[in-house]
Amino acid sequence: MNFKVLTLFPDMILNTLKTSITGRAMESGCLNVSAYDIRDYAFNKHKSVDDYPYGGGAGMLMQAEPIFQAYQDITKESKEKPRCIYLTPQGQTFTQKMAEEFAQEEELVLLCGHYEGIDERVLEEVVTDYVSIGDYVLTGGELPAMILIDAVSRLIPGVLHNDASAEFESFQENLLEYPHYSRPEEWRGKKVPEVLLSGHHLRIEEWRREQSILRTALRRPDLLEKADLSEKEQEFLGK
Ligand code: SAM
Repeated sequence: MNFKVLTLFPDMILNTLKTSITGRAMESGCLNVSAYDIRDYAFNKHKSVDDYPYGGGAGMLMQAEPIFQAYQDITKESKEKPRCIYLTPQGQTFTQKMAEEFAQEEELVLLCGHYEGIDERVLEEVVTDYVSIGDYVLTGGELPAMILIDAVSRLIPGVLHNDASAEFESFQENLLEYPHYSRPEEWRGKKVPEVLLSGHHLRIEEWRREQSILRTALRRPDLLEKADLSEKEQEFLGK
């Protein structure tokens, strides 16, 4: 999978993603992340890519032409124009479902804004998806782009050591994941639940499902509304 990131801070992207799991995936070749400096496409000798907004107001705006040139250049060898995602607080909120959908693509372009944002006209020209990582405003699109890359790349075969660890996780089936325990069996007086030591796979599965439902009811009741629960499970929740 190829991610092409258009940004004013390519080092921020590459230096962060080269660590840990994404770093190993990049080394092994299952994941490719290239970051392109929009400033390289500036058309003035000062390499500036921002200007004052028409109509006044605080802050600067990223200009259309350098972004357009950069997008044209990095996609010139693509067979089909890849989806181009603009990270913006004005987009659809990023979800696991969206990560699953993006993981089906071979190539994605991610556009990171800065300052007050980007001239609307180039967005209309190149952007296919507007994605937000939450209802708050950050200084730039780089952290959101890395969040998207991280979430999508762990769904790509070969990126996680054990592919099963992406199999049941929070948000699948609209539930949160059950709690986990590791050694020692007792820590500061707190014991690992007996059932997990029993070796009884069916009982463990039942316990985990029950814990997922309870945890979702407690922490994310909005998700549970959409979960497919059996009659017995609904009774258990007192519904
Ligand atoms: N003036 C814009 C507005 O009110 O919608 C906010 C611009 S923000 C200061 C600068 C850049 O940060 C945006 O162009 C976008 O790329 C990125 N950004 C900020 N918050 C974000 C969020 N919640 N999700 C995704 N990107 C975000």
